Amino acid sequence: MPISKTKSLKIDGSTGEGGGQIIRTALSLSMLTGIPIEISNIRAGRSKPGLMRQHLMCVQASQAISDANVSGADLGSSSFSFTPNTIKSGDYTFDIGSAGSTSLVLQTLLPALLFANTNQHSKSTVTIKGGTHNPLAPTTDFLQQAFIPALTKLGMQIDIECLQAGFAPVGGGTIKATITPFLRRANSLPFKIIERGEMMSVELVASVLNLEYDIGTRELASAKAVLVESGIDDTLITTRGHKLLGIGEGNTCYAKVTHKVGETNNNEHCHQEIFTLLGEKRTSAEKMGNRLAGLVKRYLFKTDALVDEYLTDQLLLPLALSGGGEFTARVISQHTETQAWLIKQFLPVEITFDVIDNKKTVVKVTA
Ligand code: AMP
Repeated sequence: MPISKTKSLKIDGSTGEGGGQIIRTALSLSMLTGIPIEISNIRAGRSKPGLMRQHLMCVQASQAISDANVSGADLGSSSFSFTPNTIKSGDYTFDIGSAGSTSLVLQTLLPALLFANTNQHSKSTVTIKGGTHNPLAPTTDFLQQAFIPALTKLGMQIDIECLQAGFAPVGGGTIKATITPFLRRANSLPFKIIERGEMMSVELVASVLNLEYDIGTRELASAKAVLVESGIDDTLITTRGHKLLGIGEGNTCYAKVTHKVGETNNNEHCHQEIFTLLGEKRTSAEKMGNRLAGLVKRYLFKTDALVDEYLTDQLLLPLALSGGGEFTARVISQHTETQAWLIKQFLPVEITFDVIDNKKTVVKVTA
């Protein structure tokens, strides 16, 4: 197919949240729709604006899978243009060259590799080297335990392995994703995650990379104690310590909270939400455990929504591409609002936010 002759869509990267998400989502949608993009004022809302390594990798990886024409994309660039060609499934390896987030690079590529060539049954694999546990980004655990399970409900098949963990500043992590092209099934259930049903479990997991195992044990003990004190049945809480493989050092803990969706006897119809924290040099393990429990308590007691802040912005694009759906969100962040605005620049979809009792918002994507 020749390089697109369609008129470019001009995107002001300082709009709304003004962060990297605008670049990633614009790349995903440009590849899928074939609409060329010109992005200016890149990450104008950030203290170090312009393309950082992770964002540059998103551009280069998108270029590789869609054979795109790119100009102006360098480290620090405040603008670039991108004209996609045909998306090719295949086996790809990308090295960010820093501890930049592998999850965010993967999220840029997933829509293209899921939705292109749906008549062609070839799986793709994407191996990405960099950081697996980054601040201000989904960790690999978040992808595996929350993002992918939600996409599975939409009928998407993605498998993610963490081959090596990577924390800042060293990085050195590797994830490998296997992506099966999406096929809409005639009998698929609508995506409707609205009523919070019975809580099934709270799983607390603490991991260390080349640090003392005891750090994780103390995090788990303190998180569990706070949750039990808050009235959560301790038979629903499990704890698990884990040693990560990789170079450098790091510590992370997460809580996975699983609820039934609505009044159902079906143990399969559940929603899982995860809250993650990264260890910091001057923060004790006990404080980390406390903080983690605080995130769980806020979700359990301050709202009866099912989807928390980060998954909310991350679900909009998959929903817009796969026929729509609705869910309850604890909070609508500026990331979510910006994401909704950007998706509507490319696709004829409606995205609405209806606040209910100031305690939750019904998010509805109509494709
Ligand atoms: P940006 O700040 O524009 O680069 O976008 C950051 C992305 O990372 C958004 O999609 C957020 O939802 C996501 N994100 C940030 N922090 C977390 C976290 N702790 N857990 C999961 N996702 C996160």
